[in-house]
Amino acid sequence: MEVRMEIEAYEYTAGPLGDRWLNEIKQGRLTAAKCPSCNTIFLPPKLYCPKCRSRVVDLIQLGKGKVEYMITVGVDDEGKELDHPAKVAIIRFPNTFGGLVHYVSDDVEEGDEVLPEFREERRGSITDIVRFRKA
Ligand SMILES: [Zn+2]
Repeated sequence: MEVRMEIEAYEYTAGPLGDRWLNEIKQGRLTAAKCPSCNTIFLPPKLYCPKCRSRVVDLIQLGKGKVEYMITVGVDDEGKELDHPAKVAIIRFPNTFGGLVHYVSDDVEEGDEVLPEFREERRGSITDIVRFRKA
């Protein structure tokens, strides 16, 4: 099965809000977009609110996420075989619409609370987050 991280497709069409979001990641902060009209918080950020279509400008920092669903994969997102199987999870955040698909550490189980683990050297990409680990 081919596993694509949703966010990779997103990199091509980052746009002004997406660029800021990636810059926040570069600073070591995981954020979500917040609609100024209906206060919906959502991820990945888009320029228009998925609920009311208002234009969105604000990003807010996210705290712990929760692993909703998880699979173990033997290949990376380019189809290359991994040295050892890795866990990929759907991660949701409190009161936040949407979520992220990302690697989680081996000890993480469904239902666990997790936090992002950032690389030392960051370039403003979702891959600046190595994985999510137990909070
Ligand atoms: Zn809205």
